[in-house]
Amino acid sequence: MGKADLDIGSAILNLLIKNARLRGQEGTYSVAIENGKIYKIGKELAVEGSEIIDAKGNLLTPSFVNIHVHLDKCLTGEWIRTAAKATTGSLDVIPAAAIVKRRFTEDNIRDRAGKAIELSVSRGCTFIRAFADVDTIGGLTALKGMLRAKKDYSKVADLQIVAFPQEGIVRDNGTEELLHKAMELGADVVGGIPWYEITSEDSSRHTNTVFEIAKKFEKDIHMLVDDTEDPGARNIEYLLAKALKENYLGRVSATHCRGALESPNDAYARKIVDMAKKAEMTIVENPHISLMMYGRNDKFPIRRGITRVREFMKAGVNVATGQDDIDDPYYPFGRGDMLEIAYFMCHSAFLGSPPEIEAAYDMITFNGAKAMQLRNYGVEPGCNADLVILDAKDVHEALQMQSERLYVIKNGRVVAKNNVEREIILKPS
Ligand SMILES: [Zn+2]
Repeated sequence: MGKADLDIGSAILNLLIKNARLRGQEGTYSVAIENGKIYKIGKELAVEGSEIIDAKGNLLTPSFVNIHVHLDKCLTGEWIRTAAKATTGSLDVIPAAAIVKRRFTEDNIRDRAGKAIELSVSRGCTFIRAFADVDTIGGLTALKGMLRAKKDYSKVADLQIVAFPQEGIVRDNGTEELLHKAMELGADVVGGIPWYEITSEDSSRHTNTVFEIAKKFEKDIHMLVDDTEDPGARNIEYLLAKALKENYLGRVSATHCRGALESPNDAYARKIVDMAKKAEMTIVENPHISLMMYGRNDKFPIRRGITRVREFMKAGVNVATGQDDIDDPYYPFGRGDMLEIAYFMCHSAFLGSPPEIEAAYDMITFNGAKAMQLRNYGVEPGCNADLVILDAKDVHEALQMQSERLYVIKNGRVVAKNNVEREIILKPS
């Protein structure tokens, strides 16, 4: 069941999609696409297409957005498993990550990132915000490899590359200069990881440096904050204050956001949720990795490892979710499948009612698009024809069944197809 076929070269100028179901609409629609854009949507359209797709009453939505993934480390799991076999049978994350980074080359990063992009595109995700480590260990190797992958796959996916100081800025002397070089080379977003610095003063210096670089290059910011089991960690507070002070409204995303937000301190949480709303910050939670990694050192009760997703949602804060890791030292699974990630989000954040399930689908579509500041994203006339047709009638069915992505369309071209063949051999008598 399900044969993915990536077709990068096909050129279709006019595409007509018939019998498509749209979110929240009754009946089925035709969607006419010309030169990469949706130009008409209607119940019956009297237009011709050089190619016609019959959606057969299935759901058509914008293609998925993966707002956070480390494509430099992806698909290195086999290296770790081989190293573990040679030692005691298992490796901790940190020595495992060091093994991986020592083996980085521009070529293997380009190739592994390319494979991960193909996995993602074949599952309907064509917008990816990808983190590249920039530090004094790997230098600019990860960034250069990923810039090549971005260029080589530009017809099937839009990548934003985050220059990410994984080893810190204050504690890794030389990284600040490398970050400037990374932005000059073409990184799209400035990353940060203030919780990894040693003192809270250093964390604030780290955040200040990220803002200085972002302002100089007029770029957005995506930080990993309070990604620690220390209930006293409050990097997000300083990040929010800084975003408000610098008027960086709607231009900062924060991933993980645990620390004090995962503690029982509701008064602090209310303040942070309110500030996030004012700063128009995107909160990114990647629940599968959180469930895998966090709380493992707790005695009972064991923390769930995710931020206050429902409280941010209730306040109207933009919440998105990403794949984060694809078979690497941090997470042994993952396949660039954003429906799977939304499913994890439903489970870990208690999202089970119909509007909550729709909200989880928004996290892998519109909310991620908002964080990436994508223009013309959606299923409306004038929007870019970056679409997915699922083997499902609605969002609930898509999540429940983890439905196949029948067609993936990028810039008006079919870039991936999946066939569904089901046969029940043994029938009830
Ligand atoms: Zn991450």
